[in-house]
Amino acid sequence: MRRFLIAGNWKMNLSRTTCVSLAQAIAAGCPQGGRTEVAVFPPAVYLEAVLAAGTGLVVGAQTVSEYADGAYTGEISCAMLRDLGAASVILGHSERRNVLGETNAQVNRKTLAALAAGLQPIVCVGELLEQRQAGQTDQVVLEQCTGSLAELTAEQMLQTVIAYEPVWAIGTGQVATPAQAEAVHATIRQWLEGRFSPEVAGQVRILYGGSVKPDNASELLAQPNIDGALVGGASLKADSFLGIVAAAEALVQA
Ligand code: PEP
Repeated sequence: MRRFLIAGNWKMNLSRTTCVSLAQAIAAGCPQGGRTEVAVFPPAVYLEAVLAAGTGLVVGAQTVSEYADGAYTGEISCAMLRDLGAASVILGHSERRNVLGETNAQVNRKTLAALAAGLQPIVCVGELLEQRQAGQTDQVVLEQCTGSLAELTAEQMLQTVIAYEPVWAIGTGQVATPAQAEAVHATIRQWLEGRFSPEVAGQVRILYGGSVKPDNASELLAQPNIDGALVGGASLKADSFLGIVAAAEALVQA
């Protein structure tokens, strides 16, 4: 059975102090002995402080360099993240694709680099509003999966998480309906089956992201192909993020 993963993407928010206190409050509020995996993704400069707090949460970065080392001013390598103790990395977030121009080929190189370094990649895909309106959702999302996950072996795919995040739902309050999200998740899982195998498709976690809040999490997470949530805005307050963790836990217990 796939284990729920609730991941908080803090983006370029918070300070050293508030990152640490938020991580501590989240860890303190997670159910004892819970089955849900909980991860936080602070800004890179605060990773060390959050890791040093020893909360037991999975801690990861919001992106990483595709290069191993050398003359790449401003970049942070996978080895450096591992050195800090980070366990995971978000790749191909829509803000990096659409604001910063990241391509599928770059996301693919970063994914392979992360896997080689022992970091768990969370690879984001998702269509723009105009692409959905033009009926191109499946095509766009599967092109992103094909390009971003090229060359992965089945073993590497099993260590990778996919996050479906319709761009029109990110930070807008306009959440995809459970049926809309489930349809795309099922399409991605079918693609995994063809590209890898039914066994791999059955094990890979596919998260939904886009305006997930405590009051809509339960319905989304109850869908058979939704294995967790990548949360932006609602991950910046312990209460709202923990409400989403609680919704996942309640489904596990049910
Ligand atoms: C995100 O940025 O990955 C995200 C899903 O943001 P929000 O939850 O704020 O829509």
